Amino acid sequence: MPSGPIIVWFRNDLRISDNAALLKAAQQEQETICLYVFDEDADETTEYGGAQKWWLHHSLTALAKSLETIGAKLILRRGSPEQIIKELIDETGAKSVLWNRRYATSHIKRDTKLKSDLTDSDIEVISFDGALLHEPTKLRTGSGSPYKVYTPFWRAFSGMDEPRDPAPKPDKIVSYSKSLKSDSLDDWSLLPTKPDWAGGIADEWTPGEEGAWERLGDFLNGPINDYKEGRDFPAQNDTSKLSPHLTFGEISPYQIWAEVNAKQATHTPNKEVFRKEVVWREFSYHLLVNFEDLKNKNYNDDFDAFPWNDGKKHLEAWQQGQTGYPIVDAGMRQLWQTGWMHNRVRMIVASFLIKHLLIDWREGEKWFWDTLVDADPASNTASWQWVAGSGADASPYFRIFNPILQGEKFDKSGEYVKLYCPELRDIPEKYIHKPWEAPEKILEKAGVTLGETYPEPVVDHKTARERALAAYQKMKENT
Ligand code: FAD
Repeated sequence: MPSGPIIVWFRNDLRISDNAALLKAAQQEQETICLYVFDEDADETTEYGGAQKWWLHHSLTALAKSLETIGAKLILRRGSPEQIIKELIDETGAKSVLWNRRYATSHIKRDTKLKSDLTDSDIEVISFDGALLHEPTKLRTGSGSPYKVYTPFWRAFSGMDEPRDPAPKPDKIVSYSKSLKSDSLDDWSLLPTKPDWAGGIADEWTPGEEGAWERLGDFLNGPINDYKEGRDFPAQNDTSKLSPHLTFGEISPYQIWAEVNAKQATHTPNKEVFRKEVVWREFSYHLLVNFEDLKNKNYNDDFDAFPWNDGKKHLEAWQQGQTGYPIVDAGMRQLWQTGWMHNRVRMIVASFLIKHLLIDWREGEKWFWDTLVDADPASNTASWQWVAGSGADASPYFRIFNPILQGEKFDKSGEYVKLYCPELRDIPEKYIHKPWEAPEKILEKAGVTLGETYPEPVVDHKTARERALAAYQKMKENT
């Protein structure tokens, strides 16, 4: 590498361990500028929603602290990253820029262009892996095309070299010696104020690298031992809750992979099922990178002819957790209160929006994007299309989740529902997923008046199911 100051540009890799770009800078023993830019040119596929802005604020605070422990200062700037990096090069005489790769479509385009511009100006740019276990363009079917189906993707993934070992944390960074202008994080106004809706999110999460490792430790010390069976039951807390930490790169999939492998005592099938879920994330990126515009376009364009409903009132009832279906409402309220929702319930609420309410999956994707702390350009779009039936390897449209049976199967006693819909706390188990069937006396005893203290169902399940199947049939006839 040329001798001269180095810029390490942090993006969705807000950690100091297993950070290949940072480690490379440390090894050079050159003056280093650690930079984060709040991207004002982000497009709709990459700009942060409200919940993620909250997370970003705290994650950057944590990153700045960790960097201080190895002698580095985090420089914060806001604007066009490309322009800011060029200005910073002029200001500091930096000779190289290092970053870890990211894979949203617009990010790839912008990074490729910036790399070429800087290289033309004799600035060395080196990019590293870190966000994914294998490059999403690397895996190909026998005929050389990208995978569309998860199971063969997993098989091919399993046949690749084992993911590399995580890289160590650098001991010391030689910080740039002159003073540099840096924004105050508070001036970015990432935190909500009027109203401050983030209280429940703050109670649930500790953004930052330390918080990520705590989560992983807690998971490996217990829930992983029951992951295969327990992961489907939302009241059990048997999943890792690592998703927002992974999305912000506070922990890398290499670190998770290595720690799971090292966990000798864990029953192998539990580990295997967990690894497979981590690889679903890789598969989502494989789809995003190889099929572009997954956020806006139906992967299966037959769905362009689907007769969606506008259904503004229904959309609002869904967003607010007021559909009258307890498992759906509990999920939507968990999302609003904590910025996260259990995977099983994500599938149920997404199916309900798309199939029971006939609302375009893109509306649901947008709401999740704004409210999830783990909103991810690949996993969110791929999962919504999966549920809609419009995606690669999608669940068939005509498989319609019954929210009553799903509730009875995965939240039998109603523990999860009662946590987020406390107005139903005294409804007996028999009726907890269908309170409208409870005799008047039971409702009265439980203090529930349907339509007042808890909504009547916004649609009747059987009618909605038939309507969805008819809409699907109509689409088929028109394609
Ligand atoms: P665990 O069960 O502990 O799994 C470990 C990790 O594997 C997760 O952190 C995640 O990175 C990955 N993973 C697990 N399941 C999936 C999956 N089905 N697809 C892709 N990756 C997976 N996940 C996101 O990270 N961001 C999203 O924006 C997102 N949107 C979703 C939208 C819908 C409609 C659905 C059905 C799923 C969505 N998922 C999304 C996938 C999944 O629900 C979450 O990754 C999971 O609930 C996160 O919880 P966890 O960390 O406890 O997962």
